[in-house]
Amino acid sequence: MYANFDLLVPDELDQALTMIGGAKTAEDCAPLGGGTNLVVDMRASGKAPAALVSVARLPGLRGITIAEGTVTLGAATTVSDLLRDPRMLEVGAAMVDGSRVFAGQMVRNTATVAGNICCGSPAADLVPPLLALGASVTLRSAGGERTVPLDEYFTGYKTSVRRPDELLTSISWPVPAENSASRFYKLGRRKGDAITMVGVSVLVGMKDGVCSEVRIALGAVGPCVFRAKTAETVLKGKAPSPELVEQAARKAMEEAAPIDDVRATGAYRKQQVQVLVRRLLNQTIESLS
Ligand SMILES: Cc1cc2nc3c(=O)[nH]c(=O)nc-3n(C[C@H](O)[C@H](O)[C@H](O)COP(=O)(O)OP(=O)(O)OC[C@H]3O[C@@H](n4cnc5c(N)ncnc54)[C@H](O)[C@@H]3O)c2cc1C
Repeated sequence: MYANFDLLVPDELDQALTMIGGAKTAEDCAPLGGGTNLVVDMRASGKAPAALVSVARLPGLRGITIAEGTVTLGAATTVSDLLRDPRMLEVGAAMVDGSRVFAGQMVRNTATVAGNICCGSPAADLVPPLLALGASVTLRSAGGERTVPLDEYFTGYKTSVRRPDELLTSISWPVPAENSASRFYKLGRRKGDAITMVGVSVLVGMKDGVCSEVRIALGAVGPCVFRAKTAETVLKGKAPSPELVEQAARKAMEEAAPIDDVRATGAYRKQQVQVLVRRLLNQTIESLS
């Protein structure tokens, strides 16, 4: 049973920003992407924000642009849009990995990238790849615009720096440097339509035989998705070796703070962080040599 709410469907971004402009909390007014989280939650809880502002008809908010060394996704870009664009394999292979194991076809057709970020779930599958790629998000309100590194966006379990009067309008990351590679792996109880038990994404760049760029992001093993920065420093600036990869994987495991739940114990998740970080680092490094 749904609680009552107003559905607002603006045609212009300025209109949308005015509509959410008065929101002091997410209960006053919430942006609506594909609704695959929000509407499901509304039905389960019987509660709803007073108003939903749909981004579906806002011009320019859906699509993938690659220009001047930057990849930009409009906030309403769907998971299926990512899979349909062959350029994504070149500029964000980890996003393709994440999209391939994301829900089922029907959900992929409507679920947006912005909705995946803004739902704030620690198990959101596109967030580890975006962190590994070094993404930033653009937040816009009637008062102006700001760009926040995704790494600084989440503040805890389902909390972020986004104010209720702000729309996330785009997500961008630098086109990965030559001789770099990114991957994502989702450990779930099934191959399809499963909530992630552990999600790991890595990006490695190699230059003159050393790891010039290393990013390791972990999902579902903490209150929010985060980068394992101590693990990254083990390899960054160094020539990779099996010993260093093992050390980085162990550090990543130590940085993980998973809970026990119906899907897995925290101890199992921690162990899998080590296994998966080691595996993905080896795969990316081997693909570059
Ligand atoms: C059957 C099923 C399977 C699923 N499988 C997966 C899976 O495998 N992996 C995974 O990660 N998720 C999965 N999900 C969860 C969900 O599909 C994703 O998180 C999806 O990306 C949410 O996007 P959306 O556009 O539907 O967001 P919505 O439900 O519309 O919104 C989610 C939240 O983001 C906010 N929001 C949306 N757009 C904006 C914006 N532009 N600016 C600011 N705030 C915004 C909303 O207010 C809301 O709080 C699944 C859901 C279902 C129902």
